[in-house]
Amino acid sequence: MRKICIVTFGCQMNKLDSELAAEALQDAGHLVVADESAADTVIFNTCAVRDHAEQRALSRLAQLRTRREADDGFRLGLMGCFAEREGEALLERLPYLDFAVGTRQFMRLPDVLAQAERGRCGRFGEADAPSPGIDGAHPRSRHSGIHGYVSIMRGCANRCAYCAVPGVRGGETCRPAAEAVREVRALAAAGAREVTLLGQNIDAYGKGGEWNLARLLRHIEETVPPDAGIARIRFVTSHPRDITRELAATVAALPRVCGHFHMPAQSGSDRVLRAMRRGYSRAEYEEKLAMIRDVAPTATVASDFIVGFPGETDGDFLATLDLVEKARFQNSYIFKYSPRPGTLAARDLEDDVPGPEKRRRNLALLEAQNAVNRERAAELVGSRQTILVEGVSARDYSRWTGRTAENLICVFPAPGNGGIKAGDLLDLDIYSATPLTLFGRPGRGAASARCG
Ligand code: SAH
Ligand code: SF4
Repeated sequence: MRKICIVTFGCQMNKLDSELAAEALQDAGHLVVADESAADTVIFNTCAVRDHAEQRALSRLAQLRTRREADDGFRLGLMGCFAEREGEALLERLPYLDFAVGTRQFMRLPDVLAQAERGRCGRFGEADAPSPGIDGAHPRSRHSGIHGYVSIMRGCANRCAYCAVPGVRGGETCRPAAEAVREVRALAAAGAREVTLLGQNIDAYGKGGEWNLARLLRHIEETVPPDAGIARIRFVTSHPRDITRELAATVAALPRVCGHFHMPAQSGSDRVLRAMRRGYSRAEYEEKLAMIRDVAPTATVASDFIVGFPGETDGDFLATLDLVEKARFQNSYIFKYSPRPGTLAARDLEDDVPGPEKRRRNLALLEAQNAVNRERAAELVGSRQTILVEGVSARDYSRWTGRTAENLICVFPAPGNGGIKAGDLLDLDIYSATPLTLFGRPGRGAASARCG
C-alpha cells in the first residue's frame, strides 16, 4: 500500500482524470493524500496545451529529484497529456522518473505502480485501454465536494492548426447517455450539488445519431429530479460551429441548466481563423452570439483567444480587439501562441510574432476585456443574484464565496452560525463590484438559503 498524492495541472478534464485515477488507486488499496510532503508517491497529472504548462511540469519534477534520489522508497510518476506526448522519452531521459501513463491508460495506474517496483514502467496510446471515463467501469463512489465532473465525450474530431489535444487525447468518442445519467446520479448520491458535463467540442455530442446535447440535458433534467441533490447542470466547451438554436432554447427553458456558454472565438480576424482551421468566419461567430442572446437573453458567454498566431498582423489583432469590445463576453481567457509538436501550425507555419509583441497584444486584449468586465459588473450593483455557496474565500477568510448560474463570482460576509453551508442556493443583494467579483449580502425578505 502506498500513500499517493496526485498533483493536477491544466483543465477540468485533467481534474476529472485525477479523481478517477484516485478512486482506482483507492479501490486497489492505496491511500490518496492531498499533502505532497506526506506522500511516498507523487504523480503529476500534466497538460500539453501550451509550452509553458510542460515546462512547469518539468520543473516540478526536477524539484523532487533530490527527494527521489535520497529515498529509495519514494516513487515519482506522470500522467496526462504531457505524459502521453513525451512520457516514453522522459522515462529514458530522467533516471528519477519511475513511471508514466498516457491519457487513455491512467486507469491502469494500480498495475503500473506494481510494475514500477521492478523497474521503470510506462503505458501509452489506446491499445487495449480500458477507455477511462467512457465505459461504465469506472468508480464514482468516493466523490467529495459539491462540484462533480462527468465526461460525456473524450478526444476531439477537429484539427485546429495550433492544438495538441487531438494528438494527445485521440479521436472523438461519445459516452452513451445512460452512462452519463448513471454517473450524474452517483455524484448526486455522493453529495454533489453541481455537475459539469465535459467534452472538447460538447455541442457535437451524438452528432448524426439519436442523441444531441440538448436532448441529453432534457433527459438529465427529467430523470434526475432536484430532490436527488443536483441543483445545477453545466457543460463545456462549446464550439461556435456546432452550437444550435435548439441547445440555446433548451438552456433557456431548463431551470437547473446554467445560462453560461464557453464558446471560444480564438480570433476576430477571418484570415487568422482560416489559418487556424476553426471552421467558421468572424461573421458566423457573431451570428451564433446574436442567436444565443436572442434565444437565451440572460445567459453569459465566455471566450478564449490566442494572440500571436503565425502571420497575425497588427490589423488581424485589431480585429480581435474589436470583437472583444463589441461582444461583451462574461470573460475572455487569453493565451500567447506557442507551437506544439505534431500540430499543423508547428509543421507548416513559422512562429513569427516576436515574444514582446505577443505580450503586448496579450495585455491590450486583457485590458479591453477588463473594461467590459468593469462595465458589466457595475450594471449588476443593486441586483439580486442566486449563488451556489462554495465556502470560505481562499483570499479572505472573513468572506465566503459562490457563483451565479451565469458563472459570476460573488463574495459575502462569513455567515457565522447562520445555518448557511457549502452547496446551499443563496440569494444575495449585490452592493458593490470589481471587474471579476460581485459583493453581496444575503437577501432579506425571500427565504434566502434554499436546498433544492
Ligand atoms: N476544445 C476547446 C479548447 C481546448 S484547449 C475549444 O475548441 O475551444 C484550451 C485553449 O487553449 C484553447 O481554446 C486555446 O485558446 C488555447 N490553446 C490551445 N492551443 C494553444 C497553443 N498552441 N498556443 C496557445 N494557446 C493555445
Ligand atoms: Fe483543440 Fe480545436 Fe479540438 Fe478544441 S476543437 S480541442 S481547439 S482541435
